[in-house]
Amino acid sequence: MYDLMIIGAGTAGLSAAIYAARAGLSTLVFEGAMYGGQIIVSPTVENYPGIGCISGADFANNLYAQAEQLGVQFAFESVVSAENHNDKKVVKTANAVYEGKALILATGAKNRPLGIAGEERLTGRGISYCATCDGSFFQGKTVAVMGGGNTALEDAEVLSKLCSKVYLIHRRSEFRGESSQVERLKKLPNVEFILDTTIVELHGDTALSSVTLEHLPTQKREQLELDGLFVAIGQIPQNAAFTDLVATDSYGYISAQEDCRTNIAGIYAAGDGRTKTVRQLVTAAADGAVAALAAAEYIRAL
Ligand code: NAP
Repeated sequence: MYDLMIIGAGTAGLSAAIYAARAGLSTLVFEGAMYGGQIIVSPTVENYPGIGCISGADFANNLYAQAEQLGVQFAFESVVSAENHNDKKVVKTANAVYEGKALILATGAKNRPLGIAGEERLTGRGISYCATCDGSFFQGKTVAVMGGGNTALEDAEVLSKLCSKVYLIHRRSEFRGESSQVERLKKLPNVEFILDTTIVELHGDTALSSVTLEHLPTQKREQLELDGLFVAIGQIPQNAAFTDLVATDSYGYISAQEDCRTNIAGIYAAGDGRTKTVRQLVTAAADGAVAALAAAEYIRAL
């Protein structure tokens, strides 16, 4: 039996593994795909305190190497389910059953894609899903934000301080996000709303150059030249396997506060998959530390 099992080898899961190993816990990390999580596709990370500039891939490689050197074990298998048996937690993959004293859920969230041809190819080449992370690459440029929730509204404001022009494109005429934020945006001279409109085509060979917009009520189409497009149409938490195990909110995020404790003793949630307001690399790493140290305390008291 392991002391601690961690599901997910993104920034939160790997940070938890490092803290757990340093606290003397035998630790097993499950990862269904490649370690590293969302950050692995970021060409440049410039907002992690103490690290001036690093590629997402190097950041993830460093985390993985550090965990491995500390003796953390990895099972590169997709988790099918996890169960709580009071003092014992059980994780099932397609091939095996594993047991541990405590469990950290760190499977994160995926940005909801537009689902338009060329999106994957142009991601990191004009298309971004994080204004806070990538906005500074578009200083003085023309960009658009797609979405009508609080994230899109916040992104438009962040970008208005950096970019010469910001279009806010939303598929309805009413915003889902807070009206006070909408009113603030209306006062910004370089922000323009394009409502009742969606993006139907992306253009650009090596980088995004323009998009085709469709005005939904009239189906009229027009081309909009852009240097950057920030997609902010919500996230999809990767918690489907755990909804019977721990409490989640109406969006599917695991209900846990800053102490990362779920409603089940000995099970913690760390990173973008838990309820929180700031989803950044540094908050994912912080969650990993908090959850691992809480798990160590829980295990000591068993
Ligand atoms: P969200 O509230 O779910 O909003 C997603 C937006 O994207 C909606 O306006 C939706 O349009 C649009 N959308 C969804 N699918 C689309 C598609 N396929 N094509 C075009 N548009 C699409 O997501 P979020 O803004 O990321 O916020 C998530 C949660 O975090 C919310 O509870 C939000 O309040 C919270 N949050 C809070 C803060 C804060 O308090 N400071 C900041 C950011 C986020 P419709 O409106 O037409 O459905």
